[in-house]
Amino acid sequence: MNGATAKPRILTGDTPTGMLHLGHWVGSVRRRVELQSTHECYFLLANMHAFTTRAERSDEIRRDTIEIVRDYLAMGIDPRQSAIFLQSEVPAIAELTFLFAMLIPFNRVMRNPTLKDEIKIKNLGDTYSFGFPLYAVGQTADILAFRPVGVPVGEDQVPHLEMTREVARRFNQVFCGVSEHAEDGEHEALGGTFPIPSADVGPVGRLMGIDGVQKMSKSLGNAIFISDSAKEVQKKVGKIFTGRQSPNDPGDVTNALFQYVEAFIPDQARVAELKDRYARGDNIGDGHIKQEVAEALNTLLDPMRERRKQFEGNDDLIIDILRDGCRRANRVTEETLDRVKRAAHLHFFARRLEVG
Ligand code: ATP
Ligand code: MG
Repeated sequence: MNGATAKPRILTGDTPTGMLHLGHWVGSVRRRVELQSTHECYFLLANMHAFTTRAERSDEIRRDTIEIVRDYLAMGIDPRQSAIFLQSEVPAIAELTFLFAMLIPFNRVMRNPTLKDEIKIKNLGDTYSFGFPLYAVGQTADILAFRPVGVPVGEDQVPHLEMTREVARRFNQVFCGVSEHAEDGEHEALGGTFPIPSADVGPVGRLMGIDGVQKMSKSLGNAIFISDSAKEVQKKVGKIFTGRQSPNDPGDVTNALFQYVEAFIPDQARVAELKDRYARGDNIGDGHIKQEVAEALNTLLDPMRERRKQFEGNDDLIIDILRDGCRRANRVTEETLDRVKRAAHLHFFARRLEVG
């Protein structure tokens, strides 16, 4: 809880394993932009977690971190309203990760379906670092350090949120005397340090990539990026795989192309008409539909491209935004850590943290 008169708090973030794409927009960032004036918002750049798969390319992680901030600004996140911050400069998160790792069984972490999927899809085999599964525990700390009520995320994050809720319940039970029978909504009123946060998944929880097989993902080479030019968008949309042959073949309106039609063509009557004609194979080619999708995307992205231009080449401004975000994030998370330490008998004296 962050005070009776305060705005409800939310936390979410992105890993700098590349730049942001349309999946991030529909899955999380659009919601953040909607919430930023009514909520106290914290947006984390998980730059430590990027080391799980990219430790040997730390220069690229740094570059992507800066570029993602540009993507945020382009998409309409306002740094005066929302704190944009670096995971690596908020030490309470690392400290909580260590403690939370004691509250969750090892096998429970390894059973997390999103981790298992990532190991498979990203071909991590059995040589992934110890830090890779640890990132799932770290994510419970990213979230709980802010004691948020909600976390706007895509569908793939729901298992991480479930683990986070388990850690919060367990902490409140073990260290704050909250009964194991308490309802989630009662935990704070019963003296628990943490609220039990919920996942806020929007209408498009999992946008498919242009391969038509996997979810759009920065690490999988199937993404349309927010920073792509109009031409690149056109070219990538042209590649969306459907497997359909002729304009007169009855088409599958649950395929990846139609997910884009539904997610990005704003005129609902037109969407209904396209679906009807596609399903019947009424002389409508994939190429034509792709053209309409590309136009709709470029209409969405044009103002973002314009806004992005204002921030090109100015890294100092981005660093200032991050510095301010880290200060704000540290204020909240140091308060959380203080409460955690008191509850867990780890409190010996106060400490003061400063970001230069
Ligand atoms: P990586 O390939 O490194 O896992 P990613 O593209 O999956 O990257 P993340 O940084 O893992 O992106 O995810 C950031 C946020 O964006 C999360 O809330 C996630 O659920 C959401 N998100 C990512 N991809 C999609 C997608 N294709 N559809 C909907 N939401 C998505
Ligand atoms: Mg991901």
